[in-house]
Amino acid sequence: MNYISTRGAAPTLPFDDVLLTGLASDGGLYVPETWPAITPADLEAWADLSYRELAFRVLHPFIGGSIADDDLEGIIDRAYAAFDDPDVAPIKDLGDGLHLMELFHGPTLAFKDVAMQFLGHAFDHVLQAKDQRVVIIGATSGDTGSAAIEACRGRDAIEVFMLHPHGRVSEVQRRQMTTVLAPNIHNIAIDGTFDDCQDLVKAAFNDAPFRARHPLSAVNSINWARVVAQIVYYVWASLRTAGPGGPCAFAVPTGNFGNVLAAYAARQMGLPVSQLVVGSNRNDILTRFFDTGAMQMGEVHPTLSPSMDIQVSSNFERLLFDLLDRDGAACTETMDRFRASGRFEVSEATLARARVLFDSAAYDDEATKATIRRFFELHGETLDPHSAVGAAAALDRRREEAVPMVVVATAHPAKFPDAVEAATGERPALPAHLSDLLEREERCTRLANDLGALESLIDETLT
Ligand SMILES: *Cc1c(COP(=O)(O)O)cnc(C)c1O
Repeated sequence: MNYISTRGAAPTLPFDDVLLTGLASDGGLYVPETWPAITPADLEAWADLSYRELAFRVLHPFIGGSIADDDLEGIIDRAYAAFDDPDVAPIKDLGDGLHLMELFHGPTLAFKDVAMQFLGHAFDHVLQAKDQRVVIIGATSGDTGSAAIEACRGRDAIEVFMLHPHGRVSEVQRRQMTTVLAPNIHNIAIDGTFDDCQDLVKAAFNDAPFRARHPLSAVNSINWARVVAQIVYYVWASLRTAGPGGPCAFAVPTGNFGNVLAAYAARQMGLPVSQLVVGSNRNDILTRFFDTGAMQMGEVHPTLSPSMDIQVSSNFERLLFDLLDRDGAACTETMDRFRASGRFEVSEATLARARVLFDSAAYDDEATKATIRRFFELHGETLDPHSAVGAAAALDRRREEAVPMVVVATAHPAKFPDAVEAATGERPALPAHLSDLLEREERCTRLANDLGALESLIDETLT
């Protein structure tokens, strides 16, 4: 399988190069040249496979040629051995065709582990095969950083420098990063906001002499390897709830559009998905887009679901590329307009095509807490605030009662104990493997919001 850029002007690359490259050289995102097919016969044959067996079948056409079959099996086994449930993505039946898929059984309790664990082991394998090493620099507002650190800890060929805004991530989120004491993990608390952290990372990537000294790489959600690993659990959930014949619907709490894009990819491959519901918090740029066809940037508001507090959904570009009939020039023009003016619009016909599959709804913090309470009282399930946004959207936008609706639960409630306690009156406990998190030793360097200081720290650490 080869990959092309959504902007149409970067070299076509195989999977292993896409994995290491992240962003395409023309500023676009890599997508598969064609969507591999999942046929009705495949779905019949896959109905009773374990999660890991299914992962191999789904991932193979995307990766075959870059990684040998045995090695791919090994990567999948190691990635999902880190989960505390053998089903990896266990699904609960809540009655009336409503289901909850729990994606938080990985080491850092958020769905990002599902993709990041795969990515870490895939990186390791590809770097060994090419006899290369990488320096990963990333910025995080919480969940991505800990998932990346957990996936890369202790690996010889990978150094990780993870920036977070000092005092602006929750204690659980901070400690999940700073208590990892492996020598290749370097946590940096920046005196500034998440946007400052992200700007520093971008500036480091754009500093040619610095780049010449270090083989930089990125693991943010635009990396195709993360999206592809997420396709698996949509196929899994569809088989578990609707069976091989389908159809099935999903509701996904959404920020960067990476998670729900994987559901879209599964449908393009042939999975019978009848509806995708995008749940937004008060940062509702996507909901406004699906309502009006205009993508209009606004201010970022802090909410109870901080991992969705963003205004630019990077992965949306991959859907846009398809909506524009895979015309790289049109996609470039649209994204350039968005960067210059903070706004773009699609035609009525294009919006109508998107709406065949997508619905969307937005919820403020009060509505989020009300949904946590409702699921707690009605179903005995404790949702985290992100999952609650998805659940609220599922109930409000569900089209057909006869079609199973799967709510995608993206974080363990104990990651956001204050919001959950405010809604239910009960404080959720961390799982056993993290129960001593608040007592563990931390290691972190505090740094001014200054590119020179950051680069010096990295230079000194790596010499
Ligand atoms: C990252 C994250 C999201 C948003 O996922 P996207 O792929 O960015 O849309 C939702 N919930 C949680 C808990 C997250 O960590």
